[in-house]
Amino acid sequence: MSAQSTNAIAKHFDMVILGGGPAGLTAALYAARAGFSVVVLEQLSAGGQMALSHQIDNYPGFENGIDGVTLSQKMEAQALHFGALTKRAEVQSVDLMSDPKVIRTSEGVYCGKTVVVATGAVPRALGLPEEQAFIGRGLHYCAACDGMFYRGKTVVVVGGGNSAAADALLLSRIAEKVILVHRRDTLRAENIYRESLQNAENVEFRWNSEVRQLLHGDALTGVRIRDKLSGLEEEIPCDGVFVSIGRRPATELLEGQLKLDDSKYVIADESTATNIPGVFAAGDVRAKGVRQIVTAVADGAVAAHMAESWLADREG
Ligand code: NAP
Repeated sequence: MSAQSTNAIAKHFDMVILGGGPAGLTAALYAARAGFSVVVLEQLSAGGQMALSHQIDNYPGFENGIDGVTLSQKMEAQALHFGALTKRAEVQSVDLMSDPKVIRTSEGVYCGKTVVVATGAVPRALGLPEEQAFIGRGLHYCAACDGMFYRGKTVVVVGGGNSAAADALLLSRIAEKVILVHRRDTLRAENIYRESLQNAENVEFRWNSEVRQLLHGDALTGVRIRDKLSGLEEEIPCDGVFVSIGRRPATELLEGQLKLDDSKYVIADESTATNIPGVFAAGDVRAKGVRQIVTAVADGAVAAHMAESWLADREG
């Protein structure tokens, strides 16, 4: 199909937003309020990773916390209230170099004068057979989100990078005991984390070890680990497991167009501008230091503002 005929049947917007998490929904809110025609393309339901959190206590404005689904629905409703559209659609391919930019999806073709990439990042899973079944029921990927449920309990943290170390430290201030399981004999995490962890009296380590199995009745009761050097297996009773082995940004469809860093996050500074004019990256998908809902919504606001300025300059 020629570019001309594609454009004829496509739906045209000032801004197409890829991803309906906090960054995408905030970009939609700001852009719609600025008078842009906006559509948010979201694969599942509104909220992205945020919708998976049972309780969010660190988003300002909710003194008793709020559950992720409700906060997601509120953010979506607010964007819709100002005229943004949301569409459940799977993005199949993107052409960010063309003018307008073309997004092909399971629900048709969308063209945008500007595009905000807010596709997020998903936590890496261990790949254990029953991992999916215990998500949110003893198995977690975010200590900052779910650690508070383990006050006075025993938890296992899996991983050896900065995230695992930061999670273990945070949990050591909440849980009675933290057992960090790492597949190497040393942490990859920075010194400042290592020293703090070594000094924490309630943190134990299992080096050269991998988690082989989740132990459970109805609820999770522990993990079985294997020492990679001796081959010996050990059962560790615990109340919760926090998997902290890195994240995978959702950038597969963007490779070859947007500049990505070594970990495949989109390279964009605080302005959210990418290497392609008119394309902005917001939220967890952007290469940055702190990935939280508050930093995602901040990115979304900045991206909408920058897109507005960019379009105003171009269209004079
Ligand atoms: P990361 O640095 O990639 O570390 C992932 C860790 O998980 C590694 O120790 C790795 O083991 C382990 N791992 C990976 N796959 C595994 C598997 N299948 N089973 C068991 N273990 C596995 O990821 P991250 O810690 O999430 O950090 C991501 C980025 O955010 C990094 O650039 C980090 O510096 C940054 N960050 C910074 C801070 C900060 O305060 N400065 C805090 C958090 C994150 P190996 O060591 O064997 O590869």
